[in-house]
Amino acid sequence: MIEAIIGREPGRRRLQIIVGEKTTTIGNDMSVPQDISRRQFRLQMDGETLILTNLKPETTPIYINGLEAVSQPVTLSDRVQIGYDLYGVDIAAVVEAIKKMPKPAVIYSIGHLKKVWEDYQTTKLKMMDNENRKNAVKGLASVVSMAGTIVAIVIPNTRSILIIIAASISIILALMWILPSFKRGSSIQARVEELNKQLKQDYVCPNPDCHHFLGKPYEEIVNIGKCPKCNSRFQE
Ligand SMILES: [Zn+2]
Repeated sequence: MIEAIIGREPGRRRLQIIVGEKTTTIGNDMSVPQDISRRQFRLQMDGETLILTNLKPETTPIYINGLEAVSQPVTLSDRVQIGYDLYGVDIAAVVEAIKKMPKPAVIYSIGHLKKVWEDYQTTKLKMMDNENRKNAVKGLASVVSMAGTIVAIVIPNTRSILIIIAASISIILALMWILPSFKRGSSIQARVEELNKQLKQDYVCPNPDCHHFLGKPYEEIVNIGKCPKCNSRFQE
């Protein structure tokens, strides 16, 4: 249900319509008589049903189809007049203007996004950790082979045996760690891409008409407290 408060705009004296925190006006400047209040009547809209309530019946009467009314249903074609000057209000135009007003901000709960963000971070860290470990083993293999070569140069007689031992250790390490990591090398890229794609799908504004990717740490989103795209408000 929408509740609108309708009356005289201060200053320019057009017909003013207030819904929640939003305001709009219809009609020409200076068209609304001075004796009409800024909060003259309330219009409750529930689907097709309209109820008009005069909020200042003691000072300014409202007539519907020529009969004074305080609170009663109206239709778009009813003749509504306000005050002793019988200022005419076009209810259809008022309803039209209300429908054009921006919808009041809805508050969405974003508590579920905390886990989405944390799971993403954990998985990404694990992937990077695996990569680092593989790189460390790769490094170790080259250190062993280099050390073997240096020792072999310093102690000439043992050259060939040490080189063979160092090379063997390097080859074994390579077979154990590097080859499988090479095999999976491209799929790690793919897995990171897949992870990012999943985040873009899940870590979005909960407004079904928006679904904007939020792309910032959860705590930051909570602090900002609203969607940067649709302005929906967020709470945990
Ligand atoms: Zn949004």
